[in-house]
Amino acid sequence: MSHEYEQVEVPADGEHITVDENDELVVPDNPVIPIIHGDGIGTDVGPAAQAVLNAAAEATGREINWMRVYAGEAARERYDENLPDDTVEALKEFRVSIKGPLTTPVGAGFRSLNVALRKKLDLYANVRPTYHLDGVPSPVTAPEKMDMVNFRENTEDVYAGIEFEAGTDEVQQVKEFVEEEMGFDSTIHDGPVGIGIKPITEFGTKRLVRRAIEYAIANDRDSVTLVHKGNIMKFTEGAFRDWGYELAEEEFAEETITEDELWDEYDGEAPDDVVVVKDRIADNMLQQLLTRTEQYDVLAMPNLNGDYLSDAAGAQIGGLGIAPGANLGEGRVLAEPVHGSAPKYAGQDKVNPSAMILSGRLMLEQLGWHDAAELVRDAVEAQISSKRVTYDIERQVEGGEKLATSEFADEIVERIHDLA
Ligand code: NAD
Repeated sequence: MSHEYEQVEVPADGEHITVDENDELVVPDNPVIPIIHGDGIGTDVGPAAQAVLNAAAEATGREINWMRVYAGEAARERYDENLPDDTVEALKEFRVSIKGPLTTPVGAGFRSLNVALRKKLDLYANVRPTYHLDGVPSPVTAPEKMDMVNFRENTEDVYAGIEFEAGTDEVQQVKEFVEEEMGFDSTIHDGPVGIGIKPITEFGTKRLVRRAIEYAIANDRDSVTLVHKGNIMKFTEGAFRDWGYELAEEEFAEETITEDELWDEYDGEAPDDVVVVKDRIADNMLQQLLTRTEQYDVLAMPNLNGDYLSDAAGAQIGGLGIAPGANLGEGRVLAEPVHGSAPKYAGQDKVNPSAMILSGRLMLEQLGWHDAAELVRDAVEAQISSKRVTYDIERQVEGGEKLATSEFADEIVERIHDLA
């Protein structure tokens, strides 16, 4: 039974994506897929991605029935609120959806809508594949060495939103509790203080690491690296590492070995059919991204590490205009580019829609439409290699020609028709 939508309509011709008893998606050839174009440049990249994904679906004998829903600025205009029930219900009911960026004010105003959405839909894993496409300029000399998939925990850590503002009664109570009852006397400097709480749970850690290991096994990847700062934050980030190893041993004993076992029992040569589970301290990992790129494959991280690390990794393969992502829950997917709403370029038909298009590609993979997903990747790669690109790439390649967002997307659509 459909939710009663107030201001949006369910497309008449589409069917629902459902799940089986294992929460695996069951996908018809004509699904309804909600889309939030988003704020700022979302109005440019949203329609561009829709056009490309339509072409890939049609070229492989399918049809996407888009259901436009609203959040942020566009929702304030229609509903006088940032995140209306219509939108949350549509994302829940239709299970797989895609969104553009949403603006979050810094320091004041409302909390991040992205964080709210991830919480409301319990999208606990943020997945960011980071691979290099031929022709994309990069600040490093061998960008093709990077082929990583980052799994970032999405619901806890310092992003839980448990924060107390300087000067309030609440922060004073927390300070007194910490100092007087818990015995951390004189640890916090006198004077105004803001305090945040960093919860890392066994439940949150294990479901994230499970997802990362399952992905590594299904996609024939060599390793999963737990990235943490457990040397300093022993009971939060250190616990993340310990629970990660524990999960691997409890649930994937046959399919995984630890890095210690790799050296003790296999002389550093992993058998083909196992995934090596290892861990790295976050600051070291940021160096290794650059210096030993090819040794990393799938990474699993708490929320904040994942935020920093996936932007750094994204820079190595060509920056924010390219980097795709998706948020995963049980039987639920919300694809979204890594970049934000870049307000200074909003509505100019100027920015690069590749990140949104490749987020759509990730969504197609989650639907099991691998042929359509490959068509999208091949077409974007061919387009960028042709040097007919948006401004951000054009200014970095010799002999490039600058296209508008919509022109760039139209040419990708043409390529999909030619490739199919
Ligand atoms: P941003 O990613 O919006 O933009 C930073 C810069 O990156 C831009 O000025 C532009 O030079 C470049 N850039 C970004 N996307 C591009 C594209 N598609 N093509 C070409 N160049 C591109 O980051 P910001 O300025 O820090 O954030 C702006 C707003 O977006 C903030 O309100 C922030 O909270 C929000 N944000 C939202 C999300 C999300 O919705 N998931 C993610 C990050 C930031």
